[in-house]
Amino acid sequence: MQGTVLHGPGDIRFEEVPEPRLEQPTDAIVRIAATCVCGSDLWPYRGLQDIKGPTRMGHEYCGYVEELGPAVHGLRKGQFVVGSFVNSDNTCPACSIGYQSSCEQRRFVSEAQSPLLRVAHAGGTLVPAPEVPDAALLPGLLACSDVLGTGWYAADAARVRPGGTVVVVGDGAVGQMAVLAAREQGAGRIIVMSRHPLRQQLARHFGATDIVAERGAEGVGAILEMTRGVGADSVLECVGTDAAMHQALGVTRRGGSMAFVGVPHGVQLSGAALFMSQLRMEGGPAPVRRFLPDLMARVLAGRMDPSPVFDLRLPLGEVAEGYRAMDERRAIKVLLMP
Ligand SMILES: [Zn+2]
Repeated sequence: MQGTVLHGPGDIRFEEVPEPRLEQPTDAIVRIAATCVCGSDLWPYRGLQDIKGPTRMGHEYCGYVEELGPAVHGLRKGQFVVGSFVNSDNTCPACSIGYQSSCEQRRFVSEAQSPLLRVAHAGGTLVPAPEVPDAALLPGLLACSDVLGTGWYAADAARVRPGGTVVVVGDGAVGQMAVLAAREQGAGRIIVMSRHPLRQQLARHFGATDIVAERGAEGVGAILEMTRGVGADSVLECVGTDAAMHQALGVTRRGGSMAFVGVPHGVQLSGAALFMSQLRMEGGPAPVRRFLPDLMARVLAGRMDPSPVFDLRLPLGEVAEGYRAMDERRAIKVLLMP
């Protein structure tokens, strides 16, 4: 089959790769219905994160169970499934309290931009839909696999409460989904930090009530002014840069909560500043598996539609154009269909 391989900075190829086979009795093979490009894929694509030789890409996926190992329970061939970007057994101590992204058996999915994917610990990783969904729901269900699951985790980790004031740092795909999650979880006011008109518009569509275009100290000042000098109850950091982290810390109220779900690159925090800021922090790779059944049910019932986060749809074979479009910020998030 043909799959997506990163050879070096800017060099994405759709080329011949080995077809996956069951390797462990707990594996499944999934025929991909839809996959996409993640903001985190751009770090190695831009040469800002080293790769050791040609590297298979992709970790967001949904599709149909093609084959099942003999030890997989709870799944049937032909079922439509969504999986987290982290394989998890769903039984170990981390999984048992809802932190499947720190599973003792953890493996990060990395070959999903392909027609077929081997999923380890399939019984613990994949969540089946009650029936094969309408094709129109595929983008929304795919979003559950990572981008929405991560935005949802940000809102959960930052303890978004009904009526509370929320700041979302970042207007990329995860930031957009964090806005949607905050709205669904009942936030009263959702302030998004964004400088891009199209992204501001999308954020408003997902539920943003206010936009702050200023950055750095000016951005912090603007939000403090909007909150009578108090800061926000819940702050969702969805970028991962040093500037974004400092912005997030600067606008979280004392006793408030800050979530950080952007993969950190160059973040340096001062212990003294953290100590004096007196806030709760939770972050890390999102335990998407915890939220998957709920998120899938909301999408399947038409109660929530994350699909507008995909603003470009391409055939999987044109994956290289998908990376270029995201790298050049012509697209927020690119959906790929095999
Ligand atoms: Zn586990």
